[in-house]
Amino acid sequence: GTLLLTIINGQTCSAPGDSCVERTFIALKPDAIQRGLVGDIINRFERKGFHLLGLKFVQPSRQLVEKHYEEHLGRPFYEGLVNYMTSGPVLASVWEGKNIISSSRSLLGATDPSKAAPGTIRGDLATQVGRNLVHASDSPANAEREIGLWFQPEEVQSWSRALKKWINE
Ligand code: ADP
Repeated sequence: GTLLLTIINGQTCSAPGDSCVERTFIALKPDAIQRGLVGDIINRFERKGFHLLGLKFVQPSRQLVEKHYEEHLGRPFYEGLVNYMTSGPVLASVWEGKNIISSSRSLLGATDPSKAAPGTIRGDLATQVGRNLVHASDSPANAEREIGLWFQPEEVQSWSRALKKWINE
């Protein structure tokens, strides 16, 4: 069943209908805020049909960013990354949608904006890896972990959209 498809496709979400709706954590990094790109970037997620569950403007602490990026501890870019991510406010968000974890990363484009395809956020709006505008969780486990780091449970809303049946059959 779904598990087998998951293994074959290397994805977590391959079943039709509502059975593979996922949640993810998206953050607009300080450069997106400084450059006034909030509306443009959020607009792309809304137009895609993703469902907004949580949104907040936060100045992250060093401790929060270090936890968020703990898998990169020891990498040459780690210190610069933590400085970048704490350099100003971040727009943190939680979204839901079918196959949203891999799909939102497609909307972002490659980590290095110089390699990101036109039409993607990074391909259209950024030029280098150290200023790549936006973060999206890369797995269901990381999505859960990151939502828990950045949001209190009561800051994530469950609500039903009238449009729902026009987005997913
Ligand atoms: P992604 O954000 O696409 O999931 P990674 O998890 O590999 O990418 O890296 C996390 C973040 O670290 C990147 O979005 C980028 O801001 C930064 N980063 C990654 N590689 C480099 C690098 N070589 N130089 C500078 N910053 C980097």
